[in-house]
Amino acid sequence: MILDCAVIGGGPAGLNATLVLGRSRRKTILFDDNKPRNIVTSESHGFVTRDGIHPQEFKRIAQEELSKYPDVRIENQRVHRINKENNLFQVETENGEVYSAKKIILATGFKEVLPDIPGVREFYGKSLFSCPFCDGWELKDRPLAVIAEDQKAFHMAKLVSNWTNDLIVFTNGSKVISLEEQELLKSKGIGINEKKIAAFIGADGMLEKIQFVDDTVVLCEGGFIAAEWKQAASFESSLEYALNEHGGIETDSWQRTKTEGVFACGDTRIAGPSQLIIAAGEGSMAAMAVNAALIEEKFNQV
Ligand SMILES: Cc1cc2nc3c(=O)[nH]c(=O)nc-3n(C[C@H](O)[C@H](O)[C@H](O)COP(=O)(O)OP(=O)(O)OC[C@H]3O[C@@H](n4cnc5c(N)ncnc54)[C@H](O)[C@@H]3O)c2cc1C
Repeated sequence: MILDCAVIGGGPAGLNATLVLGRSRRKTILFDDNKPRNIVTSESHGFVTRDGIHPQEFKRIAQEELSKYPDVRIENQRVHRINKENNLFQVETENGEVYSAKKIILATGFKEVLPDIPGVREFYGKSLFSCPFCDGWELKDRPLAVIAEDQKAFHMAKLVSNWTNDLIVFTNGSKVISLEEQELLKSKGIGINEKKIAAFIGADGMLEKIQFVDDTVVLCEGGFIAAEWKQAASFESSLEYALNEHGGIETDSWQRTKTEGVFACGDTRIAGPSQLIIAAGEGSMAAMAVNAALIEEKFNQV
């Protein structure tokens, strides 16, 4: 059987794309190996009607909703390879199964590359986060840190100061804040610490203090890290698509990539703010674009 669409990645982007495709009576398979970016956290915020939901509960509800649609199938396995042959895409899974699809939606997300500081993984997703719009409310009015080793430090300190008046920006040994920016931050009561960090210290993922290589410590209950990003997908592929300056897959406003028949949505585009609701919205848009393309092909057939 030739599928209308194979959706790779079952986070909010891929789930919503699949929902819209299923409701459009498109034969669709959603592949997911369940390693989403937010696996480290237990609450997702900022999605109206879902504020505070556990990410895996979000996925469970979505998969239950998808089960109502007979043209949709979910495969809980990793896609290993995608190739295009004669206008069809061959999708090979880690178990060696091969599926043919007319269209592909990439919804594979991205991964953070966190600074190499001892303890950082223990706290990330529990008291250290990357997006204050997602997790700032829970940390409001506490002594917080912004940890940024690059030019994002100044911008992020300004942003996070919205949630607390007790804020220090830590650059972990880098000199990335100009004198002018330092003056501005200090004038707003934001501290600056350019010492090299030795470790994050606390218990059960809750940060208590930051220790420096000179053995001094600063008390701190949480904060935000400026991370680097990289594509989460690791499959082999002959597909060609352009990447933007952040390493995200470039698309037009209909989620179309440079390769005809391949669409991308959600975090994998790394094009700006990343949130569940944005990813889900882009998934919906990608599904509508797939439909539009399939309809055009049908009506252009002689
Ligand atoms: C600590 C933390 C807290 C966050 N808190 C919030 C919050 O409170 N509110 C909010 O809106 N956002 C939050 N986010 C951001 C949110 O998690 C992302 O924006 C969102 O998950 C992006 O959805 P996505 O579908 O694009 O990607 P993901 O959710 O990452 O899903 C991608 C899926 O694709 C799968 N996949 C990848 N490659 C393959 C392959 N080859 N084959 C099969 N499957 C594959 C992955 O396993 C994964 O399940 C948080 C992120 C982090 C890290």
